[in-house]
Amino acid sequence: MENIIILGTGCAGLTAAIYAARANLHPLVIEGDLPGGQLTTTSDVENFPGWPDGIDGYTLMEKLRQQAARFGARYELNWIESVDFSGDIKVLKAGEKTYRAKTVIVSTGASPRLLGLDSEKKLFGTGGVSTCATCDGPFYRGMDVVVVGGGDSACEEALFLTRFSPKVTLIHRRDRLRASKIMAQRTLANEKIELCWNSVVIEFEGAEEKAVSGVRVRNVINGEEKSIPCKGAFIAIGHIPNTQAFASHLDTDENGYFVPLNGSQVCSNVEGVYVAGDCVDHVYRQAITAAGMGCQAAMEAERWLAERQ
Ligand code: NAP
Repeated sequence: MENIIILGTGCAGLTAAIYAARANLHPLVIEGDLPGGQLTTTSDVENFPGWPDGIDGYTLMEKLRQQAARFGARYELNWIESVDFSGDIKVLKAGEKTYRAKTVIVSTGASPRLLGLDSEKKLFGTGGVSTCATCDGPFYRGMDVVVVGGGDSACEEALFLTRFSPKVTLIHRRDRLRASKIMAQRTLANEKIELCWNSVVIEFEGAEEKAVSGVRVRNVINGEEKSIPCKGAFIAIGHIPNTQAFASHLDTDENGYFVPLNGSQVCSNVEGVYVAGDCVDHVYRQAITAAGMGCQAAMEAERWLAERQ
């Protein structure tokens, strides 16, 4: 039986692991399918305090991992499929393996939402379809790109990409941006950004050649189709929190994000179970805020265990 199991190795999970390990709780950390979390897909992280020259995402996560290991955190690669949080002992199942713990911190993050097209699957990553302008934008210096979406993320990505690309076409399915006023204003005012309103992507062109050559869009008002030539396509249509395996026990909102108890950021509706990072927070979604939540969750778990000893 474990004192504490931490699910996820993004900034929230690894910070929780550092705190739990330093409290002598010997945490077991389950890594999931993207060890290090979303930051490992980023290049330079310039806004994490303490790194004045920036640090690449992979290195930052590796350092957090080592920091927790130094104090006794243990890691296992596995994928939790179901849980039973109904008793004092929390039960987690991954295939044939069953884990038991007194407390659990769920910091499973969120995954970028995709359009679900075949061509998207074929061209994702090295083919030129991406969900991360920060990571991949610099590859498109001097080349035209498109961004799909109409929220703050899409605007942020489009604005960022204007640093490298002569023309960024923002493809949105409606005739008005969902983004906050200031982001929308900045986007609309930027001469390098062209809006393609009321349009949905029906195909990423270039699958045969394994490199994006354009995007085929359909106007949802008049049904007309056209191709927009580009070398890179960035999808920014929101995220899906990785909470499905826990939804029958832990409260979630209509978008699937965990809902902490009133007055807390990290206490779930089940005693001894805590939630942290992007699976809870759909507003800030920053490395440092996730780390802060991981710290809070570990301190709450430590307190809860101490009260019961
Ligand atoms: P979001 O606000 O949910 O916006 C998603 C956008 O994608 C919407 O415009 C939506 O269209 C579109 N969309 C969704 N599914 C689609 C589909 N299948 N096909 C085509 N378009 C689709 O997500 P987000 O932009 O990632 O932002 C998430 C949260 O983070 C927000 O609270 C946002 O304010 C915050 N955020 C803040 C900042 C910042 O302040 N700097 C930066 C990034 C994110 P509709 O508009 O038609 O629904």
